[in-house]
Parts: sequence; C-alpha cells; structure tokens
Amino acid sequence: PVVTRFAPSPTGTLHIGSARTALFNWLFARRHGGQFLLRVEDTDKERSTEASTQAIYRGLAWLGLDFDGTPVSQAANAARHADVAAQMLAAGHAYKCFATQEEIAAFREAAQAEKRSTLFRSPWRDVEEGDHPDAPYVVRLKAPREGQTLIKDQVQGDVVIRNDQLDDMVLLRSDGSPVYMLAVVVDDHHMGVTHVIRGDDHLNNAARQIQIYLAMGWDLPTYAHIPLIHGPDGKKMSKRHGATGVEEYQALGYSAAGMRNYLARLGWSHGDDEFFTDAQAQSWFDLEHIGKSPARFDFKKLANISGQHIAQTDDAALLHELEGYLAATQADPLSDAQKSLFLSGAYCVKERAKTMPELIDKSSFILQPRPLNLEEKALLALDSVSISILKELTPQLQNAIWTREELEGLVERLALSHETKMGKLAAPLRAALSGRVTSPSVFDMMLVLGRDETIARLNDIS
Ligand code: GLU
Repeated sequence: PVVTRFAPSPTGTLHIGSARTALFNWLFARRHGGQFLLRVEDTDKERSTEASTQAIYRGLAWLGLDFDGTPVSQAANAARHADVAAQMLAAGHAYKCFATQEEIAAFREAAQAEKRSTLFRSPWRDVEEGDHPDAPYVVRLKAPREGQTLIKDQVQGDVVIRNDQLDDMVLLRSDGSPVYMLAVVVDDHHMGVTHVIRGDDHLNNAARQIQIYLAMGWDLPTYAHIPLIHGPDGKKMSKRHGATGVEEYQALGYSAAGMRNYLARLGWSHGDDEFFTDAQAQSWFDLEHIGKSPARFDFKKLANISGQHIAQTDDAALLHELEGYLAATQADPLSDAQKSLFLSGAYCVKERAKTMPELIDKSSFILQPRPLNLEEKALLALDSVSISILKELTPQLQNAIWTREELEGLVERLALSHETKMGKLAAPLRAALSGRVTSPSVFDMMLVLGRDETIARLNDIS
C-alpha cells in the first residue's frame, strides 16, 4: 500500500511551494488508494511556533487536502530517534566522537592549507570503547567511504553521490538530542512511508538519509524530488512576484478547487489538459509526468482556472465557499435572505467570476440591501422619461404571471406603446434593479428577485 506524507516545518506560513508538495503527496496517495500522512517537523524549538502549525492546518483545510490519521509531532518522537542511534552504535554502524569544536576547526584549517578535502575525518571512528575518555561526545554515522550512494529518483533519474564526498554525519548531539536528518528517516520508517515526494532542495539530504536506511537494514522509500516553483520571470518564487502564502491566495478569493487544479498543473502534466476535476486529477496523477525543470507561476492562468471552477461548482457548494471566504476575510456573514437569493441567482452570476471578490461584485444585485446605492452611470440611465415609463410597469407587474415569457412580453409591449425599443428600456430597468450599468439580464434579475422585491426597487427610484 502507498503511504505518503507531508512534513512541513512550522516556522512560518504555508508557502505555495509547500502546498504543492502536499498536493502531490495527497494526489499520489489518493490515486493509489493509500494514505496521506501529516508530520509536523517541530524539532527546531527556536523557530517552530504553534501559530505556524495552526496556519498549516488552516491552509491544508482550505485546500481540501485531508490527511489520514492524526498528525505526528516530530519532536514528540525524540526518544525513538535517540534509540535508533543507540542501536546503530551497538551494531557498529555509528561511533562516539569526542572531537571538540576546536579540534574540528583545526582539522579544517589544516586541510584547507594543504588543499585537501575539508570533510572532517574523525580520529574516533575506529577507537575501541575501552579507550574512550570520560568526556562529552556526539554520535556519528560510520558512513561508507568507498563506492557510491545511488538515489533512484522518480523525477531526477539516477543521482549518484561518491561516498568519499560525504562525511560521518552527526546523529546525536553532545546533549543526546537527535539531529533532524535522523529524525526524518526514523519517522518515515516508523510511519511506513513508501514514497517521499518533496522539494528538490532536499535531494542532497537523500544521500545521507539513504545511508541511515542502509545501516539499519530498512527498505528505502521511493524518492521523487520535485523542482521548485519559479516566478513568471524564471527566478525563485518570492514576495516580489506576488502572494507566496496559501492563506494570501485564500484572501484573494481564488476558488480552492481552482487552486488545486492550478497547482497540480504547475510542474505536472496530463497531456494538454489544463482544466480538470479532483476526480480526474486523482485518477491521473503520476510521478512520471512531473517536470524536471522549475515551473513558472502564471497568475493569469490561475485566475482563469479558478473562474472555470467557480462556474462549474454547484450552487450550494459555491455558497458554502463564498461564506468561507467572507469568514476568512473577516467580512460580515450573509443573512438568510441573502443566502436564499444567492441560491436562486447563482446561475446567472457565476459564469464570469474568476475569484470570490468578482463573484460578490457580480452578485451585487443579490447582496445589496434596498434602497440600492446607484452608481453614477446608472443614475444617468434613469432620466425622467425612463422613470415615468418604468412607473407604468409596476401595476402590471403586480398581476403578472412570474415567468420569463410573461415578463418579456410585458416589457416588450410597454416599449412598443412608447414607440421605443426594448433595449432602450433595459438600461433604466437594469439601473433600477441592480444600481449598475452591467449586470445579468433584467429578466434573470426579476426572476431571481421575485415580484415584491422587483416592485419595491422600481418604487425606490424617482
Ligand atoms: N521539513 C522539511 C521542509 O519543510 C521537509 C522534509 C522532508 O520532506 O523530508 O522543508
């Protein structure tokens, strides 16, 4: 069974690049009916914060990346990490190194002066336990010096590192605390992780991590190191390019489904498909089609895909998403009346909205309370002649059968009786019903608003 994990360090917001890593792990697990686990890598006590952990949870929740089981705290596993180091020590795969910081610095200086490799070669590697001093020590991996370490990476291909280029890394510090590199391997093994999908900034770590797996005789996971996300200019994505945190994208009002779609497409491809549903992504996602070079973030593409998802979301789900957006941005919640109007009117507003703010803007005829705030151009459309014609409409609306055909007929006859075109009447009618010069069709608005509200809005104008 496939087990993937997302292993963020809680030292800031959830970055868009990390979110994509999470998404790839989630998609891969779902594709294979496996598990997607979450591990919070909180071993760096100085930099890890609870606020950041909460931001990661919120970001994943907004993106709909549900993880299986309960999240693992890496710091809570410290005893297990230390225990594995003890096992390696007992088996002769690790050793106690008593070299002091000064000795290590002196070794490096001498190596530099003699133009030798500055990789530290501990004199304690082969010293018998009986000859150990009573002094502080670190535990180091007895790494192979001959041969090479192979990373069979699903994205990068075979990456070979010569073992004489790696030093004997520290596993336990002198205070007995495990290092991060050991923690990752022990946790991944313990959690049964089969596929490690992560940023290619961790590729070098993989060689060292593999040495720990080999020393412990554990099965290696399958690795897939994915290229970073670049900005539109081809440089590493940063604040200069725009939003970098997932919650910023939420606050900008992109659709979460659109965000998933766009991020999946960013660095992975399925033929020429740009728009796809979760179900499609979950049945298509594979490691073979992850690109080898960094993908460039394209804000326009994101907006287009977000818009396509908004248009395709069913009305109740869209209302739910809109409410989530309002809550996340600390805006006023919708009243029950606004919610039910939105449900009746969503069909005529969701087609062209790329983001939640655009959806709110296009829904202004639904969401604005009476009396409407008319924009200037709308006021201009309401000259005295138009107003007097529209006033004739109200009594007729009182008794009309409320269907599109009937309403169209009514307005058409009214236009005819004043020897004007229906189009001429539409502008003032639109202004009265929406306060705008652009809006859904006047008949859509009348149908959505209903008789009483339509008449009340007409009565409001003067
Ligand atoms: N905690 C690491 C990070 O946030 C990820 C480590 C890993 O995936 O192995 O970059």
